[in-house]
Amino acid sequence: MTNRDFAVEVVQRLQVAGHQALFAGGCVRDQLLGLVPKDYDVATNARPEQVRELFGKHRTLAIGASFGVISVIGPKPLLPIEVATFRRDGSYSDGRRPDHVEFTDAREDALRRDFTINGLFFDPIADRVLDFVDGRRDLDERVIRAIGNPADRISEDKLRMLRAIRFTATFDFELERETKDAIRKHARQISVVSGERIGAEMRRMLGHSNRHLAAQLLQECELLEQIVPSGNLEGENRANWRTRLKWLKELGAVNWETAAVVLLLNSLKEQGVEPIAERWKLSTAERKSIAWINQHWLTLSRAAYLPWSEVQPFLVHGEALQALKLAETALGPNHVGVEFCREKLKLPAAVLNPKELANGEDLKSWGLEPGPTYSRILSIIRTKQLDGEISSKQQAHQIALEFLDAVD
Ligand code: ATP
Ligand code: MG
Repeated sequence: MTNRDFAVEVVQRLQVAGHQALFAGGCVRDQLLGLVPKDYDVATNARPEQVRELFGKHRTLAIGASFGVISVIGPKPLLPIEVATFRRDGSYSDGRRPDHVEFTDAREDALRRDFTINGLFFDPIADRVLDFVDGRRDLDERVIRAIGNPADRISEDKLRMLRAIRFTATFDFELERETKDAIRKHARQISVVSGERIGAEMRRMLGHSNRHLAAQLLQECELLEQIVPSGNLEGENRANWRTRLKWLKELGAVNWETAAVVLLLNSLKEQGVEPIAERWKLSTAERKSIAWINQHWLTLSRAAYLPWSEVQPFLVHGEALQALKLAETALGPNHVGVEFCREKLKLPAAVLNPKELANGEDLKSWGLEPGPTYSRILSIIRTKQLDGEISSKQQAHQIALEFLDAVD
């Protein structure tokens, strides 16, 4: 059974029990665009208690019950289906979430949603789309348009600014004029949105091949300067920005961290990774990855002129291929450093990354006192090994003794 099969089953069960039940929002949009939805949401006029009763307490979760959302748990590998009672949102005092919700009908539930293409319903049993917001027209015309008055809708929930740009960029749609104006007008208020949510949106925008469109929209809407610490682009010359947009466009299949390095080049140069990691609430792995790529992609570009012992540790690093793609985009595929690295990466693993000639155990067996000099000695041995100056354990032993002599 697929996620869709299970979602249809949930709808059917609700309808047979006498309720109205429909696919809602993102899954309807994706289906009409010919995309496979990530997950299916069901909207219904059944009350949360009725949904729980129908599917049974042990097959439902009531985590979102205060917003009228009950999760119906499916057979093992399938995702739970969120069944939400049609609702109208109360006032928004925090600029992010409604203070309370009231249960209502399908039409009002469509009107509370963010963009017309996200306001569609679909009845999978009758095979019929229900459109109260002209969402189909905008899907056909490839437009992201706020439902209702854009300025009101954006000021209710500031996260919608980033969602609008993400949908516009990743679908390669147009951002409707008034919606765009409303975003520009409210850009400074993105500060009420949590770092986690900003980070989550940036991850998705920068992880997508249309990342250059997202970056351009963020800049045009004056949002970029709000979400990048010291991201004031005015001081930056236009040619520089255009170059980076071009790189973002040409990066191809890279991880989002690599794209972030391009977007944040100036900020990273001035302040390092910490301010952005804090602002976007990045994980340790993401922070390390951005810092590493930022530090090393230019090293790879100089690889042909550096000692092998300096280049090799970069090439065997987990992010080497990402940094290399960035270098290739920025410097061109025929750049001597880029070609050098590509060639080296074709070497068999045992040649590219040969086993160490000596380790801590060896130093101990040679009678060296354990201590901080261990890593120093091992690193000297490794450098000489990689640079082809030594190739046996005896030679490594010799190096260790010479080092100790020199220190004494
Ligand atoms: P994706 O899952 O690809 O991010 P989506 O549109 O499905 O896109 P969800 O966050 O899963 O986004 O939300 C499901 C639906 O809920 C949306 O399609 C939209 O109708 C509604 N929705 C989500 N977030 C908001 C919001 N901030 N304001 C108004 N409606 C929203
Ligand atoms: Mg979704």
